[in-house]
This record gives sequence, structure tokens and C-alpha cells, in this order.
Amino acid sequence: MLNLNDADLIVVGAGFYGMTIAERAAADGFRVVVTEKRNHIGGNAYTYNDAGTGVEIHKYGPHLFHTNSKEVFDYLSRFTEWLPYEHRTWTTSGGRIYPMPINLATICSFVGRAMSPSEARTWVADNAREVTEPTNLEEKAISLIGRPLYEAFIRGYTIKQWQADPKLLSAEIITRLPVRYNFDNRYFNDIYQYMPKNGYTAIFEQMSLSNQISVHLGVDWFEARPAKTTVPIVYTGPIDRYFNYRLGPLGWRTIDLELETHTGDFQGCPVMNYADIDVPWTRISEFKHFQPQRSYGPNTVIAREFSRSAGLGDEPYYPINLADDRARYDAYRALGDVETDVIFGGRLGTYRYLDMHQAIGAALKTWANQIRPRLTQGAPLGRSED
Ligand code: FAD
Ligand code: UDP
Repeated sequence: MLNLNDADLIVVGAGFYGMTIAERAAADGFRVVVTEKRNHIGGNAYTYNDAGTGVEIHKYGPHLFHTNSKEVFDYLSRFTEWLPYEHRTWTTSGGRIYPMPINLATICSFVGRAMSPSEARTWVADNAREVTEPTNLEEKAISLIGRPLYEAFIRGYTIKQWQADPKLLSAEIITRLPVRYNFDNRYFNDIYQYMPKNGYTAIFEQMSLSNQISVHLGVDWFEARPAKTTVPIVYTGPIDRYFNYRLGPLGWRTIDLELETHTGDFQGCPVMNYADIDVPWTRISEFKHFQPQRSYGPNTVIAREFSRSAGLGDEPYYPINLADDRARYDAYRALGDVETDVIFGGRLGTYRYLDMHQAIGAALKTWANQIRPRLTQGAPLGRSED
């Protein structure tokens, strides 16, 4: 059992949400105890150097940092130097390769002729006319790019990735991807796009070292927690697990990554998506292309990514968020509101697809608006942010 007698704050989970709050609290002189059930810090952003090749691997899948928030960028910059990196992805569909997200080059290549931006807009609009009021992912995608591009690049990939009919998925998932009528083929639009110079794990090490935060690795909160505690808690594990699945499990998607080592350059780009339904993997990442500034040896490491629904023993990666899940999450949140000295935060705690910058931004806000007032003035924590 953990000794919490001296703690001012308990943080469950050493991912970006938990560690940002832990770091802020420790910087203000509060005594923070972090428990992490894995044997490493960093949550899903964890990176390590492969012993055989020296290549930096993103253990839980490729992580690309991008944000428009100066606050988040400045905050993280205290713990790392950066390497400039703008992410670009390609996709294989029907035996041909196209740039992704969909841009003018994708459209010209798909249609098989040179088009101006306005010709491409007209071509897409002609093919998008069938949907006027989109209510789900499929309709939204067709309304944005038309049916032929949807069928070629989105439908098969989405079915493989979400293991669900795109008609049942939320429209907002597809709005994560830009559609551009120019030749800009960057994956993200954001102002700040970088890779941490020494990997993400080094950021977490700096965060914990900077204020001597006590991080207990390999410690599952539910096995280590005392019967009773008066210390406020930031919980970043799955909200359904916190309540012992009493309202049933929430739907999550997990990922299996198969690593392979090859000689030379495997695919010539950081990430290749596979749009066809008959290719079982969704994408392949080749890690050394994430840091073109670094010099590596002759070998390369790739990760083939397979997506599937998560069972209870699997790592929950992406909230599936079907209508049933949404209702169940709302019910769990109502239970969460009764836990007056617990904040449910982060991707797992709020059942939301959060990018890293969003998790950090939310943590900074919750620290300033709820946790700091609780620790300094004894103010009630209030509701967890949604
Ligand atoms: P997590 O990183 O999941 O951390 C939660 C931690 O809590 C975990 O370490 C977990 O082990 C621990 N925990 C859970 N239960 C317990 C317990 N009972 N006791 C103790 N510890 C517990 N974001 C981007 O910005 N760019 C990207 O390119 C990107 N790519 C991604 C690719 C994949 C495949 C995935 C899955 C995510 C990606 N993300 C990306 C999202 C990014 O991983 C999240 O934004 C980030 O991990 C959120 O941090 P978090 O602290 O909320 O959650
Ligand atoms: N998507 C797709 N084809 C692609 C890339 C993305 O159909 O080549 C869809 C898919 O449904 C995905 C969504 O667009 O979930 C958002 O893309 P993003 O890369 O943000 O997906 P993530 O891996 O973060 O879910």
C-alpha cells in the first residue's frame, strides 16, 4: 500500500495529463505522489531507442506534436529542445500511391488529369451533391469530398480502423482531416509542429526531475490505494474502470503494432496508409523518417498497425463513441460528480479523443481553475472538465 501521509495530491497515471498537473503542483511546492500501472512514464506518448538499430520507437503508435496554443508550446519547451518536423502521409489505394490528406495533388492524380483549384472544387461539388445534411461520418465525408474519393480513401480505412460501419460513426471524426484545394500536403495546419529532440520520454523525465516528483511505476491504483484518503486525486485511467464497470464497459478500440527491422529505406516516407479493405493493416510507420535530421545506421524499423475492438484486458486507445457509449459515459460522469475530491481527466478519464496538446492544455486549465484553488484555499474541486 502506498504511503500517502505526506502527500498533498495524488495523480493516477503518468501520461501528459497526469504529469502536467503533477509538475505544476510540485513546482508550487506541493507534495505529489504519482502512481502508474505500466513500468514506464509517458502514457501512450512513450518512446524508446531500439537496442539493435538505435531508431527511436513510439511504442504505442506514431505521435506527432502539433498545436496552435502558444501556452502549451511554451510550457513543453521548458522540458525539451525541438527538431522542426511537418508531418506528411501517403496512402495506397487500388495499387497506386496518393498524398493524404486529400489535396489538389490527390484529386488530380485520382481523376488522371491536371486541374486548377476551381476545377477541382467543381468536380468535388458535383460528386458531393447527394448529401445536403450530413448526420454521420459517411455522409459528412461524402459532403466534403464526394463519393468517389470517399470510396477510394476513406471507407475501407475507416471500417478497418473503427471496426464499425461509417454510417454509425460520429461525423466529427472525419473533420480531423483537412481537405485542401492547393498542393499543401502537410497532415496538420497548426503553427507549431515539431518533434522533441530526444524523444517524448525525455520530456517526462525532465518534468519529474525538475521538482523531484515521486513517481511509482508498476503500481495500479486499484491495488495500491488505501481504504480511505482525504488527499485530492487526479484520476487519468478509464472512467468505467474507476466504477468497476458497474454500468457496463465503454467501447474502445485498441491497436496491435507489429515491429519489423529491414535494411535501407522501407517505404520512403514516415507513414503509409492502406485504404483498401482487403489489406488487413491500416498503416505502416517507419520511425526514422520522423527525424530526418538524425543520422541512423543501415537498418530501419517499421510498425504495421492493426486496429480492433478492445476487450477488458486490452489497452484502451480510442473511444469508439457510438450512441450507446455516449449515454453510458454520461451516466458514469454523473457518478463522477458525486466523487467530490476526484478530478477525472485526460483521454481515458473523460472518454474523449484528445491529442497531446489538448491533454496538456486541459491539464493546465484544470490545474489553474480547480486544483490549485483546492490546494491553496481548500476550495471545492468542482466538476471534472468535459
Ligand atoms: P495516457 O497517455 O493514456 O496516460 C494515462 C496513463 O494512466 C497511462 O500511462 C496508463 O497506464 C495509466 N493508468 C491507467 N489506469 C491506471 C491505474 N489504475 N493505475 C495507475 N495508472 C493507470 N496525439 C497527438 O497529439 N499526436 C499524435 O500523432 C497522436 N497519435 C496517437 C496515436 C495513437 C496510436 C494513440 C493511441 C494516440 C495518439 N495521440 C496523438 C494521442 C495521445 O496519445 C494522447 O493525447 C495522450 O496520450 C493523452 O494523455 P493522457 O495522459 O490523457 O493519457
Ligand atoms: N481516415 C481515412 N483514411 C485515411 C486517413 C484517415 O479514412 O487515410 C479517416 C479515419 O476514419 C480516421 C479519421 O479519418 O479515423 C481521422 O484521421 P486521423 O489521422 O486523425 O485518425 P486517427 O488515427 O487519429 O484516428
